[in-house]
Formats: sequence, C-alpha cells, structure tokens
Amino acid sequence: MAALHSYVNGDWHVPSDGGMPVHDAVTGEEVARISSAGIDMAAVLDHGRRRGGPALAELTFHQRAALLKSLASYLREHREELYALSARTGATLGDSTFDVDGGIGVLFSYSSKGRRELPNDTVYVEGPVEPLGKGGTFVGQHVCTPLRGVAVQINAFNFPVWGPLEKFAPAFLAGVPSVIKPATQTAYLTHRLVELMVSSGLLPEGSVQLICGGVGDLFDHLTDQDLVSFTGSAATGQRLRTHPVVAANSVRFTVEADSLNCSILGPDTEPGSAEFDLFVKQLVTEMTVKAGQKCTAIRRALVPANRIDDVVAAATARLAKVVVGNPASPEVRMGALASLEQREEVRRSLKALLEAGTLVYGDPERVEVVDADPERGAFLSPLLLRCDDPDQPQPHEVEAFGPVSTVLPYQTTAQAVDLARRGRGSLAGSVVTADTDFAREVVLGAASRHGRMLVLNRHNAQENTGHGSPLPALVHGGPGRAGGGEEMGGVRGVLHHMQRTAVQADPAVLSAITGQWVTGAPRNTGDQHPFRKYLEELRVGDTVVAGPRRVTMEDIEHFAEFTGDTFYAHTDEEAARANPFFDGRVAHGYLVVSFAAGLFVDPDPGPVLANYGLENLRFLTPTYPGDEITVTMTAKQITPRVGAEHGEVRWDVDVTNQDGASVAKYDVLTLVAKRPGEQG
Ligand code: NAP
Repeated sequence: MAALHSYVNGDWHVPSDGGMPVHDAVTGEEVARISSAGIDMAAVLDHGRRRGGPALAELTFHQRAALLKSLASYLREHREELYALSARTGATLGDSTFDVDGGIGVLFSYSSKGRRELPNDTVYVEGPVEPLGKGGTFVGQHVCTPLRGVAVQINAFNFPVWGPLEKFAPAFLAGVPSVIKPATQTAYLTHRLVELMVSSGLLPEGSVQLICGGVGDLFDHLTDQDLVSFTGSAATGQRLRTHPVVAANSVRFTVEADSLNCSILGPDTEPGSAEFDLFVKQLVTEMTVKAGQKCTAIRRALVPANRIDDVVAAATARLAKVVVGNPASPEVRMGALASLEQREEVRRSLKALLEAGTLVYGDPERVEVVDADPERGAFLSPLLLRCDDPDQPQPHEVEAFGPVSTVLPYQTTAQAVDLARRGRGSLAGSVVTADTDFAREVVLGAASRHGRMLVLNRHNAQENTGHGSPLPALVHGGPGRAGGGEEMGGVRGVLHHMQRTAVQADPAVLSAITGQWVTGAPRNTGDQHPFRKYLEELRVGDTVVAGPRRVTMEDIEHFAEFTGDTFYAHTDEEAARANPFFDGRVAHGYLVVSFAAGLFVDPDPGPVLANYGLENLRFLTPTYPGDEITVTMTAKQITPRVGAEHGEVRWDVDVTNQDGASVAKYDVLTLVAKRPGEQG
C-alpha cells in the first residue's frame, strides 16, 4: 500500500519512508499508509507566505468569496466519492452528510457572507470614524488587513471534511493561506478532499497545502504573522500552545478541545409532552451520530430528580432500536468508532465513569452488529449511565469520546445551573423547556461557561439545527476546558486572520487609506451630477449640493394629512411647545428626508438603478416652518459586484438648515449600473 502524498511547495510529495498503516474502521483492513518523512517544513511555511499570501492579496474579498462558491459547487459534484471514503471511517451515510455536506455548506455560507458583509476591496474598515480633535482635522478608525503568514490548521479525526473546511473558509476569505494537517486516523479522507480542491484549479497556488503525517519541526519556524488553529484533545492543545516559539512570537493560537456538554430538561416537562420527547430524542441522536465522536455531543443529561426514572426508561427504549453495524447496510443507524485504539480509549474512560454511576443501557464488551465482524471493526454499543449523586466528580470531568452519556438529577434551577457550569467550559449546552423564565435563568447563569446554548421547545422543534451542530454564522468554541477558542461566527472568523490597526490621520489621508469618504475629506462638486455617472466613472467624494428649499406650515399640514401622521408635534402648537425638545410645531423628519430626495435627485433615466434603503438615519435639529434646508450628498463607498452589471454605492447625506446646523444625517444606499458591457 502506497503512503499518502502530501501537497506541499506546489507539488505532491512522496514520503521518503514506507509510513505507518491506517486501518478501515469497519473491516480492519489497511486503507493507507501515512508519513511526512522528507518534507521541509520551513519551506512549506515559506511557500505559503511567498506564493499563497501574495496571490490571495491580489484578490478582493468578493473575488475570494466567488472562488469559495465555485469550490463548494465543485466539491458537491464529487461528494459521492467522499461519502464512500467516509464510510471507511465508520460513518453511516447520515454521518457522512453531516461531515461532507456540512463542510461544503460552510464554504457556501462564507461565500455569501463575504459578498454581503465584506467590501469588494482588500481592506476591511471596522466601526465608525472617531473624532479625535475639536476642529475635525484629526480622526481615527480601525482597519483590518490580512496577516502575512500562514494558517496552520490541525484537525481532529472525527470530522475529516467539515473540520478542515470550517478552518479553511474564513482563512481564505481573509487572504491567508492554509496548511492543513489532518489527524492520522482519517487522513485518507482529508487527502482526497485536498486532492479535489487542488484539481479544481480554482485556488491560487500556495493558498492551500496538506501535510499527511507529523508536522516535524514546523512549529520552530512559526512567526508572529502565522496562526495555528488546533482541534483535538486538551492535552495536545496545551502542549502545542505552550511551544516556546508560539510564546516568543505571540503566535495567534486557537484551541478547540474536548468538552463535557450538557443538556438540561426543564422542570415543566411531563413525560409525553413535546419537550420531554424532544429531550430524549436529542439525547439519543447526540449519543449515536458519528458514534458519539462529536466534540459537541451531550455527555451529561441533567433532569429534574422526579423525572430521572422516566427519562432513563424513555432513552433506553429508544436506544434499543439503534441498529449498530456496517454503515453500508441500510438498516444501520450507528457505525463504528474511528479505530480499535479509539474504542479502547472509550472503554478506559467508561471505567472511570462507572466509579460514579451505573450502566443502564449497553455492554462495553459486547454488541450485536449487522454485516460486520464486531472484533475487527471498532464497534461499540451505545452506553447510557445513571448517576444519582450529581456531585460525583467523574461525570463532570471524564470525556468518553464515543456513544456515552450520563443521566444526572437536579433538585432546583440553581443546582441545574451549578451542574451545567461544572463542565468548566463547554462548547455547547441545551435547555429543553417551554418555561421561558427557566430558560432565561439557565442560559444567563450558565452562559459564561458555554460557547453556544440552544433552547429547544415545541415552537422551534421543526426548524432547530440540533444541540451538536456548529453553524458557520455562529461562534464555535468554548471557554476553559473547551480550549478558550472561537472559530467561525461569520465575519468574526475572517477577522481572526487579520490584524486590526487603529489609523490616526486627517480626514483626507484616512479616506485615501480606507477607500471610503469620511467627513472632512475633500468633496468634488464638478459640473456633472453624480447620478449621471456609471460605476467606473464615479469617485469617492463626488458630491451634489442642492437647495435651499423653504419648509412651510402648509407643507407640514399637507404631509400630516396625506400620510396620516398627525402626531401632536406636527399639528398642535400648544402641545408641541409643552414638549421639552420643541419650541412649537415642527416638520416631520420623514418630510425632511423626502424633500431632501426631491432636492438631490436627478430624475431622468440613467446609471442609478434603484434606492434600496437608508442607514444610520438621525434627526439632529428640529425643522420649523420657515426654515430652509439644503442637502449635501457625497459618494462614500463604491462596491462593484463581481459578475453583475451593477454595483452598490453608499452616499453620505447631510441635510442642513439656514444656520448651517445639521437637521438630518444618513446614508443612502443605491444600485448603480456599470458601463454597458462591463461585468468584471
Ligand atoms: P489529539 O490526539 O489531540 O489529536 C488532534 C490533532 O493533533 C491530530 O491531527 C493530531 O495528529 C495532532 N497532533 C497530535 N500531536 C501533535 C503534535 N505534537 N504536533 C502537532 N500536531 C499534533 O486528539 P484526538 O484524540 O485525535 O481527538 C479527539 C479529541 O478531540 C476529543 O477529546 C474531542 O473532544 C476533541 N475534539 C474537539 C473538537 C472541537 O471542535 N472542540 C472537535 C473534534 C474533536 P495525529 O493524528 O497525526 O497524531
């Protein structure tokens, strides 16, 4: 059997030794050999920094997002072969879709977030401009630029596709090249994934590399511009994060480690109620999906003391229906663990758990399997424990990384919160209840020791994504024992790969640096109305000044009657005067905004296609009958859409009165056409 090749330095590297064997989780046959012998680790990092980084830097966020989408579609076309290899890791088809489709879903999700929430630029501007001086000549703003290093991504064995992709997507979008290191046990599946990624031809050379086998002296060559994202055991995470080079160079280091996640049944739930059934169903699902080899699986089921017998009875009845065996057999609900070693590891952990509780379902040494040899394959029965003394330490400390959970009783809400917190930092927790007060008390009480909390009840039962499913839009990670890291969480995960820099300058320089117009930067009020310009012709700072227009009492009365907005401040002089903010009747804010549109608009058909909204609208000074308003509208940000015939233009609008005071400020959002024939 040939050893897996690594993809490094722009080529597939053949290991210089025979490598160690990796076995099929179901049949015990050798699937592959693995070794990284002969790889020059310093050169791998260098290749990422010299080839991948600069190639990515030439692309805008939107261009990278478009590549992620194409990559996702390409991988989706090849998912059947990924499923086939996934079955060899012991996964059922359901488990494989969770891993493979889940990973592809992360690419789609980041692609869409990149196009919607990031600019079509290479710099991300974060937060508002901060005035730093009274005269308006000194301002500050935060900008984020990609680290000029490599994201080293070390993955656990249990999600050989989703794991690498959830780390790769935000790094790629940020413009940082990835070095993927899969766990040995299931590296053959990640290897095929990376083969597909490379053969897609979509990714710039150097933006992704793969190391099959150990990482050798790679950590010795990390710099301050590199990052490490690690998923695996707390012990390995701890060892790697304290590597002297990581400490000396302040290398950004994220750990996603193990976690004793809990699910809490509310005291309001009678057996037979929707919530009771949801709780039991979810518990069994979490025990059996991926044979319980999920960092987010429920390890502790916390239930009201007077319900423990009912929960145990219902869960065991459900577990009895779970068919274990060869994932290729259609009736099989739970496949094998990833390896025989992993099974031994779970049996060892179970022994520790049995010091505190008793087994109420399953036998760790014996399991009936369908269409497979129970000894050659890493099969294990689901194992449910009951521990009537919830203060025993083991259930809160020992993670058996397999189909193992413990049911524990609680007496009061405060005790439920206390027990949830005893995991000392978890990735995910769930509360199953229809009692809103209970949900609030538990979530707020336990939140500081949880990365994600799901409240499940009959109302979201159909749509909920489940206790164990991390989502690209939400953070995945947890405090304390869970590693103290955060991954994904939408744009947060992208910014993790970038440096945030506070830039202080005068408005013109700040505007030139960020590519966005800021108050105080020069305006260009040329002859041509900016609405007559195609996207390519428009420049940040292009401005139209229009007005003045006098606002009369007749206007206010007409507007009140026409819209039905007869609020007293516009219609009743005495009442308006009594209001602490007004000296008499005032114009409606929306009347001012409407008049402003009437002033700045250039009405004939032209490049401006539509107004799709306003943002940050503030009414700052009242407008009284007789006031004269002038509007100044300035192109603030221009965002061409990749592959479309238009782009987005954000305009700064400042409506002022005859004294020069701002009456209203806001951003107008428009769609503007590219010159005919331009789509790039
Ligand atoms: P592990 O032994 O810590 O291995 C995790 C990864 O680290 C593997 O890729 C492994 O490679 C690599 N590794 C080990 N020693 C290394 C070293 N000295 N330098 C560089 N890399 C090294 O963890 P595991 O037992 O395989 O994984 C199961 C654990 O992961 C469970 O505790 C589970 O809770 C946790 N997990 C957490 C999450 C999460 O998102 N928080 C997700 C999945 C799993 P080799 O395989 O080649 O040794």
